[in-house]
Amino acid sequence: MSNAKTVIVTGGTRGIGLAIAKRFSLEGYNVVAVYKNDDQNAQSVQSRFQQERTLVLKADVSTPEGVKTVVDETIRRFGDISVLVNNAGISIISLFSDTALNDWNKVIQNNLTSAYLTSQAVLPYMMKNLYGRIVNIGSIWGAVGGSMEVAYSASKAGLHGMTKALAKEVGRMGITVNAVAPGFIDTDMNRDLDEFSRLEWAESTAVNRLGTPDDVAAAVYFLASEEASYCTAQILEVNGGI
Ligand code: NDP
Repeated sequence: MSNAKTVIVTGGTRGIGLAIAKRFSLEGYNVVAVYKNDDQNAQSVQSRFQQERTLVLKADVSTPEGVKTVVDETIRRFGDISVLVNNAGISIISLFSDTALNDWNKVIQNNLTSAYLTSQAVLPYMMKNLYGRIVNIGSIWGAVGGSMEVAYSASKAGLHGMTKALAKEVGRMGITVNAVAPGFIDTDMNRDLDEFSRLEWAESTAVNRLGTPDDVAAAVYFLASEEASYCTAQILEVNGGI
């Protein structure tokens, strides 16, 4: 077992999560990248990372069983957990009046309940060490609300609230809890958006471009660093200046 710190990145095999996992790997962390469905993609990720310091794991973090697998396997392989990045998430676009209860529950379960489950499961290890970093990936919609994305906006607003409240419970134990709230980031999640809307979004930012997964990873890495110990209960907006 190495002495390197260990990070769990949920949804760590694609898009923003993959960029976060890569960043921590480059910085010498043991990395556990969790995914839910896409085995083919996950295999190609495993082969591109430092084998002995990487665990690519299939588990559904919206369920207690899935989270137990993640934590048990992480401890078995690396012995400890210093950083948790709650990045896994889904989006369903529909009018509020057409949003079925099933879809509402699915979004809340994947985006918010997952963070409750993973945080509760890793905190005992962080408390034991009097050290830990939890970084949640929120969203601009959690702050301002997005039309046709009421369930998604509610889940992310919930995540922002959870971030601030949990930070106050665990701060005295050397554990910080923060969120990064991205704007438009160019990933699979936005692949259905047409060229005009992408251009329009880019033009609405101060920097006149869409965000990249690496833009988000840089902010996450800072909040997870030892030197960010006085930053907690914060929602850091990474949106190009809107
Ligand atoms: P992607 O759809 O590209 O990737 C999502 C990742 O999460 C995949 O690896 C997926 O696994 C995994 N995942 C989803 N649900 C679960 C689950 N229950 N258990 C385990 N893994 C799961 O998303 P993005 O990279 O675009 O987004 C990442 C996060 O950033 C999300 O929380 C999203 O809400 C947030 N965000 C994204 C923005 C954007 O513009 N892209 C803007 C603001 C916030 P698999 O590959 O197996 O499906």
